[in-house]
Amino acid sequence: MKSCFCSVVVLAFAGWAGAQQGLVPVEQEPHHHVVLKNDSVLVTHVVIPPGEATLYHTHSYDRAAVHLTNNMITLQQPNQSESEPMPAKIGEISASTRQGEPLTHRVRNTGPGPFEVIDVEFLQRPAQASGATAAPVAAENPSARIYNWVLAPGASSGQHTHERPYLVIAATTIQLKMTGPDGKTSIHEVKAGDFHWVDSKVTHTLANNGATEGQIVELELK
Ligand SMILES: [Zn+2]
Ligand SMILES: [Zn+2]
Repeated sequence: MKSCFCSVVVLAFAGWAGAQQGLVPVEQEPHHHVVLKNDSVLVTHVVIPPGEATLYHTHSYDRAAVHLTNNMITLQQPNQSESEPMPAKIGEISASTRQGEPLTHRVRNTGPGPFEVIDVEFLQRPAQASGATAAPVAAENPSARIYNWVLAPGASSGQHTHERPYLVIAATTIQLKMTGPDGKTSIHEVKAGDFHWVDSKVTHTLANNGATEGQIVELELK
């Protein structure tokens, strides 16, 4: 009886603490701006001004992130101490795997400028991963593979084929030249954080048509 009472108290306290800390699903966190949601992905563009922190929020899926700014951030989970400030760098990519319980944390910008990242949640982990890989894999989790193209002026990815739907994200500003297997080209002026969801099989080459180095990241569903 006593232990039963205790657990009720703990649950009640946890609920109270959650409300105090503003615990929300990631898409309701005010610094996470939802820029795309479909059956496969939830894409948020996260912007945290200097000195600000997100609310405590939960991530319930495998996810990936592409950093758009150089800055310092801390991470903190409820009832744990805040991490030491750690650098976040333009073009840094990561893939993380949901482990059982949803991850709850908050992020604080301790640097001098804005912190921006594109966060992608993969809403449907496949029962069996596709075996088709378009290019060397820079990072992956059970839901997606990430291809990272850092392109010097004039450099190209080489032709490759996406058998599965994918999201292409510009980590930096770049004048992107896309070439199809028929040799037809198109030029796109893209800026950091621009993205495009593609839900069909595509063969293409990505090239940097500009005068400065640029970076394109592709997140392909498994
Ligand atoms: Zn988060
Ligand atoms: Zn591609």
